[in-house]
Amino acid sequence: MNTGSALLFMKSQKDDLNAKGAFLHMAADAAVSGAVVLAALGILLTGQTWIDPAVAIAVSLLIAGTAAGLFRAALHLSLDGVPEGIDPQAVATFIGDQPGVTNVHDLHIWALSTTRTALAAHVVWQGTDADAFLDKVTDELDHDFGIGHVTLQLETTPCERAGVCLAT
Ligand SMILES: [Zn+2]
Repeated sequence: MNTGSALLFMKSQKDDLNAKGAFLHMAADAAVSGAVVLAALGILLTGQTWIDPAVAIAVSLLIAGTAAGLFRAALHLSLDGVPEGIDPQAVATFIGDQPGVTNVHDLHIWALSTTRTALAAHVVWQGTDADAFLDKVTDELDHDFGIGHVTLQLETTPCERAGVCLAT
């Protein structure tokens, strides 16, 4: 049963931390069940009872290892860290390289949930069709970086309202 339910979460656990938690829980339960059966067989065949605690310790270490990774990812998420797999410098460079853009500052990237990512930035831009520019940049940020909720503030005077300017 545990192996079956773990397999149900196999696909979604890659990009959703909640599903990953459920997956690890089921997988750990399956591993414990399997280990108990194997240890029992081992003791039955050899009479060596130390097999039971040895297997228990091995399974505990395995669970502790996977739980530590999950804990780190959850802590990172709750502290509004940049989601794993997104390089903020690459995002800044991508926006900075768009036609008409001369500067990007106050760039923030954070997770809204385990599957949704948000971005806010000030963009100094000299162009004529702001709607087309925003459409293109938001589409590409979604497609290339998985950032689905983008808020860009277009500015025409470089850096004058910003305390800090990040060169791109
Ligand atoms: Zn600004």
